[in-house]
Amino acid sequence: MIKITDKTKCCGCGACSQVCPKNAISMQADSEGFLYPKIDENKCIQCGLCVKTCPILNNKKQNFIPKVYVAKNRNTETQKQSSSGGIFSVLADYVLEKNGVVFGAAFNKNWEVEHCFIKKKEDLGKLRRSKYVQSNTLKTFIEAKKFLESGRHVLYTGTPCQIAGLKSFLGKNYDNLITSDIICHSVPSPDIWKKFLEQNYDVNKIIKIDFRDKKDGWNKSKLYFYFQDGKIEPKDNRMSSFRIGFGEALFCRPSCHSCYFKGNNRYSNFTLGDAWGYVDYASEMFDKNGLSVIFVNNTKAEEIFNKLRKNLIYKQVSAEKVIKYNPYYNISVKPHQKQQEFFNRYQKESINKLIKELTYRPLWKRILGKIKRVCKKFFKI
Ligand SMILES: Cc1cc2nc3c(=O)[nH]c(=O)nc-3n(C[C@H](O)[C@H](O)[C@H](O)COP(=O)(O)OP(=O)(O)OC[C@H]3O[C@@H](n4cnc5c(N)ncnc54)[C@H](O)[C@@H]3O)c2cc1C
Repeated sequence: MIKITDKTKCCGCGACSQVCPKNAISMQADSEGFLYPKIDENKCIQCGLCVKTCPILNNKKQNFIPKVYVAKNRNTETQKQSSSGGIFSVLADYVLEKNGVVFGAAFNKNWEVEHCFIKKKEDLGKLRRSKYVQSNTLKTFIEAKKFLESGRHVLYTGTPCQIAGLKSFLGKNYDNLITSDIICHSVPSPDIWKKFLEQNYDVNKIIKIDFRDKKDGWNKSKLYFYFQDGKIEPKDNRMSSFRIGFGEALFCRPSCHSCYFKGNNRYSNFTLGDAWGYVDYASEMFDKNGLSVIFVNNTKAEEIFNKLRKNLIYKQVSAEKVIKYNPYYNISVKPHQKQQEFFNRYQKESINKLIKELTYRPLWKRILGKIKRVCKKFFKI
């Protein structure tokens, strides 16, 4: 049976729990709010399926040379409603038009992030946009398998570890399955998110949360909260403290610091991210509504991409140039030096105050950081 002795070796994908034939494994939150498998030893029959299915314990090194594109959706409205260039929606439309099913991360009614599936284009809005919180996969691997076995086309999207978990759970390739992951910085704790919301807002009055609100343009996107009475927070256009904590890796999952699914060790057909380095490789394509990078990871993905070209404005670019500005394609994020202190204190203190205190940098350090970023951008040093 699966035993988590080293938390950096469990990504919380839920494959072990979903594969268990006796429902003996439930995913339960630890003291930092991340889900880990918990075994009910009375139900466990020692079949070992959980161990055989864990994508980290059974990580077979993938190796491919992806083709990389800068791209945006030709449909400007969809592009605006997406985090980057709206490429996820192009993949989703392709599958939905084949009477398929699309899986991805959505907010539930309590603003927690969970995986779910949709069958109609009208529901795609639920899955669009990045939610910078670890999504609970619930029973979606089992649901996806049922659709695949019945011959339906399925697009399953998620973090690289979730796609590795799904593929390991399925145990074989399906022609009718397309998978897409992301260039993943890390996933924050669902419990920090929950407490942050409860401490700062009347959760029942929130009507929309957008981690990548493009009011000020895609490359300046920020986390905004919208309320029933028309209020929008933060009022002063500032970066929300939760977004700062995420960016600084103050409360992300331990496994994110030594992620097994970086670089070309991916199990997905496509990898999507933001075209942060567009100035260097596609300045003519800049668009305040959003610009993406797409890694087309294998022959199957290439065949699909060829069918989708008509829906995209795109240009092929070098992987090296893209990765230079999207380092988390290849490397794991380093934990913030005060991460442990944050986790030790967050249960008893205000999340907002803690984030501000622990990520505080004196003015001179901030100015120096800004100068460095400008030099990097304009003088490429
Ligand atoms: C936690 C997280 C970290 C990221 N880190 C980076 C990064 O460091 N660099 C970078 O270039 N890009 C990063 N991205 C990806 C980027 O933000 C966009 O999601 C991506 O470019 C796709 O944009 P889009 O416009 O094509 O699709 P969108 O319409 O924005 O689609 C969103 C897609 O992301 C999936 N998704 C949303 N939230 C989650 C979640 N919590 N867990 C799993 N899947 C989710 C949805 O299922 C859907 O497939 C990250 C995304 C997430 C969720």
